[in-house]
Amino acid sequence: MKRFERIAVIGVGILGASVGWNLSRHGAKVVFIDAGQSGEGVTNWSFSWVNASNKTVRKSYFDLNVAGMAAHRELAEAIGPDSWWYPSGHLRWADDPAVEAKFLKTAELLAAWDYRVEVHTGAEVRRRLEPALTMPGDVPVLFYPDEAWVHGRHLVGRLVGQAVASGAELRSGIAVCDIGTHADGSIRTVALSDGCRLDVDIVVNAAGPSASQVAGLVARHLPMRREPGVVTRIDCAQVPVHRVLHAPHLEIRPDGDASMVLHSREVDALIDTGEEPAQLARLLHESARHVVPELGNSRIAQTRVAERPIPADGFPSVGAVPSVPGYYEAVSHSGITLGPVIGRLLASEILTGRRDEMLADFRPERFPS
Ligand SMILES: Cc1cc2nc3c(=O)[nH]c(=O)nc-3n(C[C@H](O)[C@H](O)[C@H](O)COP(=O)(O)OP(=O)(O)OC[C@H]3O[C@@H](n4cnc5c(N)ncnc54)[C@H](O)[C@@H]3O)c2cc1C
Repeated sequence: MKRFERIAVIGVGILGASVGWNLSRHGAKVVFIDAGQSGEGVTNWSFSWVNASNKTVRKSYFDLNVAGMAAHRELAEAIGPDSWWYPSGHLRWADDPAVEAKFLKTAELLAAWDYRVEVHTGAEVRRRLEPALTMPGDVPVLFYPDEAWVHGRHLVGRLVGQAVASGAELRSGIAVCDIGTHADGSIRTVALSDGCRLDVDIVVNAAGPSASQVAGLVARHLPMRREPGVVTRIDCAQVPVHRVLHAPHLEIRPDGDASMVLHSREVDALIDTGEEPAQLARLLHESARHVVPELGNSRIAQTRVAERPIPADGFPSVGAVPSVPGYYEAVSHSGITLGPVIGRLLASEILTGRRDEMLADFRPERFPS
């Protein structure tokens, strides 16, 4: 195991918190630095669905997401599940025959990959799982029992709290604005917006949607896509559904005892048409009341348009960048699902120098500087 003076984790969302927690528990000296407050970036404005059923585009990506689900279960054992881990499964159905056929075909592929999926009718779902839903009695509904949702901000708080208790430092409200290097190009310092300069051997770029700016501080080009999404929280007297749901035109999940989160790719598509976020929130709320009539008295509480942190080819960028010794990236969409596994793999790579095969397709070197 290598010994370092100090490792700076730049950005404390789910990715930075997971990497830092894993480093810290192996005795590394970690300083977490966040321009805002930890856990309040995209991690707090995510649909936060832990899954691999939506990741069939490439087998290695699917496998990484399956490992991400397992890493969440292990983490829940290690730090306790309270207030962040909700392994209640996921339901999906369609109102269009072509979309329905596509969902069923994907379910067949997933079953062939040993991923647990059950097909129920709408009537069975209402009787056994979610009585508050409106859906036709004969519609096929896919149930993925091993999927979950996560309260991202609470998870980050738990990980950072434990790391700090074992000696890590947390600097909030302070941005990294420069990264200094030695003559051989290796990492030497980080300069902070409060005027401090810290000596460090390693930096982890976990700056989410700002990761490409942080990469620029070591003259690295990390191309990223722009793909904003709108997320709305509604307040309700009590939460009438228990699982992550993909209803036609709406994604909806619980977010605690008196709150739910709403999202829709169709509504995301309106962001660039100039619609106000408040109007997008009203569209989401209207769909929610249609799918779950008991939400009739709920009210919109908060809405945010958030940028997904997506490297240009859609896949994570995780690991060392050999041209800048001491610089590592942890940048990914689906970061809620992948945070714990990326945290474990990247911390191990930093501390031992060993590169895990599971990250072979997701290495930063595929984007040449
Ligand atoms: C609409 C939407 C829906 C999503 N749904 C899902 C889903 O269902 N399942 C899933 O797995 N994923 C989902 N995601 C993706 C997931 O939310 C993200 O991949 C994940 O939250 C990224 O975490 P992060 O730690 O990289 O980023 P963040 O949580 O944004 O953390 C990055 C931190 O870096 C800090 N920072 C930035 N620049 C600097 C700097 N120069 N110095 C210091 N700090 C800095 C910021 O303040 C921020 O706190 C969704 C995303 C969106 C937008």
